Amino acid sequence: MKLHEYQSKKIFEVNGVPIPRGRVANSASEVKQIAEELGGRVVVKSQVLVGGRGKAGGIRLAKTPSEAKDLATIILGMEIKGLPVRKLLVDEAVGIKHEIYLAVVDDRASRSPVIIASEAGGIDIEEVAQETPEKIIKIMIDPLMGLQDFQARDIALGIDLPRPLWKNFVQILHGLYNAYKATDASLAEINPLVITENDKLLALDAKMVIDDNALFRHPELIEFRDLDVEDPAETEARKYGLSFIKLDGEIGCMVNGAGLAMATMDIIKQHGGNPANFLDIGGGAGSSKVSAALRIILSDPKVKVILINIFGGITRCDEVAKGILAAFEEVKVKVPVVIRLVGTNAEEGRALLAGADMETADSLVEAAQKAVSMAGEGV
Ligand code: GDP
Ligand code: MN
Repeated sequence: MKLHEYQSKKIFEVNGVPIPRGRVANSASEVKQIAEELGGRVVVKSQVLVGGRGKAGGIRLAKTPSEAKDLATIILGMEIKGLPVRKLLVDEAVGIKHEIYLAVVDDRASRSPVIIASEAGGIDIEEVAQETPEKIIKIMIDPLMGLQDFQARDIALGIDLPRPLWKNFVQILHGLYNAYKATDASLAEINPLVITENDKLLALDAKMVIDDNALFRHPELIEFRDLDVEDPAETEARKYGLSFIKLDGEIGCMVNGAGLAMATMDIIKQHGGNPANFLDIGGGAGSSKVSAALRIILSDPKVKVILINIFGGITRCDEVAKGILAAFEEVKVKVPVVIRLVGTNAEEGRALLAGADMETADSLVEAAQKAVSMAGEGV
């Protein structure tokens, strides 16, 4: 789960990373009021979950509260990389002497957190990494030992930080590392961490990504989930514990098991069709899960046929068949359905489904061929 800048800054603040004074707003008049409270000069910042807002015109400096209001109206009407702007962060404007890049990130290669830092922070950090990689330093952190002061000082030296700021920099890096660790984040990034004209360090931007699989440990973060930017079908799927990803094709897939779901999509593709989704209903799915899955698949108007592919291992096929029948009573299915059912109690399952209006298949290849031709696709 990606967090907005204003959300990440709240987490930074409780962990002792200094941030500018500011507040989030939903309307231009609110922006004006916040600008008045902050004393006039502010930065109006679009809150969208993509990078490069500054370059896209989504970060604007205002000298007066009324200018802030005008800029807010403009930014609220913008789409940045396809995402509509619904919230604005209003921060007090800061004079900048120098911009630094600082982040803690999961590094799969070393199987540890890594601190990444650069003296050349700001909006073009990707270019710095490409063109002058020597300006980017990386330090691995032992996850059991945690961040050590000497490592933080090595980084301060590596980015040529003025000596008087070292003590504060070490504190900030500890704060950032703690924020990353305490929230089970996979990324905690400050770009830019600035040296202000009064020679103070301040995190002007903030970005965090939280590991979805650890969210159950963080009830305090769940309210941060921004449903506005999420596909409603995916939100609905999460409610029922289904793993669902919407795609562009015409063949709706309902499969038990992530690996089998991937294989089903591959075989559909191989036969010239296009899956409308990835959907893993998981093991032991009962009728409520099956009907939720059907509803979600059918909410996509592009779906022309549904392919149900069930392998009964621990899950028994007759149980799944009962679930499917119950779901069919609940949900009106107006598109053809192809089903392949194998494994434990497959015979019993097929017998239960014999009366139902659906095409059966003995092998996955046959199921895919049928689904593809029913969808009017294929070669
Ligand atoms: P991003 O483009 O999405 O990374 O958004 P940032 O929050 O990093 O802002 C982009 C750039 O705007 C920064 O690198 C700064 O140069 C500039 N900026 C942001 N806040 C301020 C501020 O308070 N004062 C000044 N002078 N510039 C700012
Ligand atoms: Mn930034």
